[in-house]
Amino acid sequence: MSVAADSQPQQAQEVAVEAGRRRTFAVISHPDAGKSTLTEALALHAAAITSAGAVHGKGDRKGVTSDWMAMEQSRGISITSAALRIDYGECVLNLLDTPGHADFSEDTYRVLSAVDCAIMLLDSAKGLEPQTLKLFDVCRARRVPVITFVNKWDRPGREPLELLDEVEQRIGLRPTPVNWPVGIAGDFRGLLDRASGRYTKMHRTPGGATRAVEEELDSERAAEVEGAEWDQAQEELALLDEIGAHVDEASFLAGESSPVLFGAALPNFGVSQLLATLVDLAPAPGAKPDAHGRERPVSAPFSGQVFKMQANMDQAHRDRMAFLRISSGRFERGMVLTHSETGRPFATKYTQAMFGSQRDTIETAYPGDVIALVNANALSVGDTLYAGPKVEFAAIPSFAPEHFAVVRAKDSGRYKQFQRGIAQLDAEGVVQVLTSDVRGQQAPVLAAVGPLQFEVVTDRMAQEFRAPVELNHLDYTLARRTTPECAPTLHGLSGAEVLTRRGDGELLVLVHNKYRLRVIKRDNPDLVLEPLLAGGAE
Ligand code: GDP
Repeated sequence: MSVAADSQPQQAQEVAVEAGRRRTFAVISHPDAGKSTLTEALALHAAAITSAGAVHGKGDRKGVTSDWMAMEQSRGISITSAALRIDYGECVLNLLDTPGHADFSEDTYRVLSAVDCAIMLLDSAKGLEPQTLKLFDVCRARRVPVITFVNKWDRPGREPLELLDEVEQRIGLRPTPVNWPVGIAGDFRGLLDRASGRYTKMHRTPGGATRAVEEELDSERAAEVEGAEWDQAQEELALLDEIGAHVDEASFLAGESSPVLFGAALPNFGVSQLLATLVDLAPAPGAKPDAHGRERPVSAPFSGQVFKMQANMDQAHRDRMAFLRISSGRFERGMVLTHSETGRPFATKYTQAMFGSQRDTIETAYPGDVIALVNANALSVGDTLYAGPKVEFAAIPSFAPEHFAVVRAKDSGRYKQFQRGIAQLDAEGVVQVLTSDVRGQQAPVLAAVGPLQFEVVTDRMAQEFRAPVELNHLDYTLARRTTPECAPTLHGLSGAEVLTRRGDGELLVLVHNKYRLRVIKRDNPDLVLEPLLAGGAE
C-alpha cells in the first residue's frame, strides 16, 4: 500500500485521538483481595454500558445478554491472559494482568513498567498487605499514579478513616476520597460522590445475584432513609473537607496523592464509580523518553517495548511469545519492524491481541495497546521494536531478588548446553544470574523475586536445553548494591557474600536477613549498601 505524503499528518492525528481514548492500567493487590472479581466486574459493567449505548447508536453490536453470558463463562480471564481489552463507551481500557498468586515473580513487576496507572485494591478488613506493599514500591519507583479501591465493603471491615490513615502513614500517599461510604463495612448502604454530592443507594439483588441495583436519592430522602448512618457519613465528610483531602489531579499524577473509592466488587457496588474515575483521572498514553532522554510523542512512527515473555504456551511448538506495549504510532499486522538490539527486521504476520482467554488476530493497534508477538525467539524483555529511524528505550530495571539458589548441571557432560541455557534464561529475564570468582562459572547463583522463577528454570533447562540442573537454595533473603571499594571488607564478613550480576554488571551483596544487615551497617557505617528497586524494604 502506498502512502501519500499528505496522509502522514492525518495518521498522526488519528494516532493522537486513538491514544487519547486509551487507559492502560493494572490492578495491584494481595492474593484474595478480589482482583479476579474486580476484573470481571469491570469487564461486565463496561460491556453493559457499551452495549446499552449501542441500542441507540451502532446497531451492529452484540446485545447485553450475550456479552454477559460469554464473559461469565470465561471467568478467570485475569489469570489466563496478559492483557484484557475492555471497551467502555468511547474509551478503550487495557487491563494488564499482574499475576499475584503462587506465580508471583519479576514478570509481575515488569508489567508495571507498561502501564500508565495502577488500581491499588485493598481488602476493607485487612488494609495494606505485604504483596500490595511490594507492588506499590514498584509503582512509586516507576512514578505510576495510583487509584485506591477499598473492596469488600459488604463484609465487616475497618473504619474508613482508619484505612485512609494507614495508607498515609505506611506508604506516604495522601488519600483523597472520590466517594464516601454510608454505613460501616458489613452494613453498606450506599456511596456519596463528594464532588457532586450525589447519593447512590445500593440494593442487593435477591438470591445473591452478582448485580447491585443502584438508586439515586436526594439528600433529604437519604437522611430520612439512612438515619444515623447518614449523619455519621456527613460528619466524616466534614472532617475530610476540613483537612483538605480533595482529589487533586496534579498531585495524583505526581504520585503524591491517591484518589480513593469504596465499594464491593462481588455484588458490584461502586464499580461504575471506579470506571468513571479511571476514565476521568488516569492518564492516557503520553510521550515516552527514549534511552537518550528525548521524549517520543505518541504520534511518532511505531515503537514499542517488550515487557513480558512467555515460553512454550503451545506445547506442540516450542515457541516464545513476546508481549509488547505500544508507545507510539499505529500498528498494522504484517508490518516489518526493526529489532533495536540487533538491527534485524522483525515480521509481524502472526500477531495477536489478548482478549480474555481467547486469542484473536489483531489488525491494527495504537499507543497503550498490548500486542502478543508469536514466534518471538529473537526477542527479550526490555527490547524495542520500531518503524522508521532507530529508537532505543531504557532497559526495564532488574528488581530486588529475595530468593537465591546455586545452580549446577546434573550431568557434567552437558556443560556447554548448561551454559547456553543459563545465558539464554538470563537474557530473557526469567531469572537473574550472579557469579563470583569464589563460586566459579560452573555454579552460578540464581536470584529471583518469586520462587516460581526457579521452577521455570529447572523445567526449561531440562526440556528445552536438555541440561537438567540441580538447585541448592541459599540462606540469603536480601540483596544490596555495593561498590568494588567495599567488596574486600564485605568478603571478610560472615552472613554476607559479594557477587556480580551478569545482566548489568552490578556488584551485589547478599545478606541472610535484615537483622544481619543492620549489624553490618552498624559495625561498618562507611560501607555502600544501597537498596535495589522494590522489594528491598527493611
Ligand atoms: P484475587 O485472589 O485477588 O483474584 O481474589 P478473588 O477475586 O479470587 O477473590 C477472593 C475471594 O474474595 C473470593 O471468594 C471472592 O468471591 C471474594 N470477594 C471478592 N470481592 C468481594 C467483595 O466485594 N465482597 C465479598 N463479600 N467477597 C468478595
